[in-house]
Amino acid sequence: MKTVLVTGGSRGIGKAICESFSAAGYFVVINYNKSEKEAVALCKSLKNAVAYKADVSKKDEVAAMLTAFPDIDVLVNNAGVSLFGVFHGANDEDIRRLYEVNLFGTLNISRAVLPSMIRKKSGVIINISSVWGECGASCEVDYSASKAAIIGFTRALAKEAGPSGIRVNCVCPGVINTDMNARLSIEETESLVENIPLERLGTPQDVANSVLFLAGDRAEYITGAVLSVNGGFY
Ligand code: NAP
Repeated sequence: MKTVLVTGGSRGIGKAICESFSAAGYFVVINYNKSEKEAVALCKSLKNAVAYKADVSKKDEVAAMLTAFPDIDVLVNNAGVSLFGVFHGANDEDIRRLYEVNLFGTLNISRAVLPSMIRKKSGVIINISSVWGECGASCEVDYSASKAAIIGFTRALAKEAGPSGIRVNCVCPGVINTDMNARLSIEETESLVENIPLERLGTPQDVANSVLFLAGDRAEYITGAVLSVNGGFY
């Protein structure tokens, strides 16, 4: 049985990813930070799963998680936070937190799983970026920059790790109906939907489907890819 580690697996997109991999027969490590209740409930509802608390931005917590689960076949770097407001108005603490979770969290875990993947000469890493990382968003400048960095990281690591039998890909969700977008008013949501050719917001399951595809054998010749899952929005 293959093992998948999903960061931020307790809620939203991460939760749908955990459910999809469990249904596909994987052992699922559900990483969470604050949402213990949700993670434990999800764990109970899945076959072959375990919930594990670690803040992805803290290297010691990441190291402890990988000591507990040293044999990861698929890593999904999904944990993320948003930061909304004008670029010059953001405070240092929020800015640092954003990059520490979105960017350094992804780098920390990827660096920590690679040695065992290299030893096995196999492994898959899937990074969750964002449409804003592709095209940039007003009032989400730091968020967009952190997600653009994930795209660059994906492309570069795919080149470095390919000869070791490791594939590295990235999914860029569009506007997905989760807690992250709970601050949007009905009017803002309607105006976003008007600009989506498929005329609806995305669902966590839309993203999970693409992640499961990229993890599997049907994607065995795909690496360094940036897959847009945004209903044609961009
Ligand atoms: P969400 O509902 O706000 O969930 C965020 C997840 O990240 C939670 O499971 C949370 O876990 C986890 N997380 C945050 N900080 C963490 C940390 N330090 N360590 C471990 N886990 C942490 O967001 P979502 O919409 O599902 O977003 C998931 C990913 O998709 C994010 O990377 C986001 O940037 C990206 N994305 C979302 C959209 C969208 O429209 N929703 C669009 C493009 C990209 P805890 O609650 O346990 O802390």
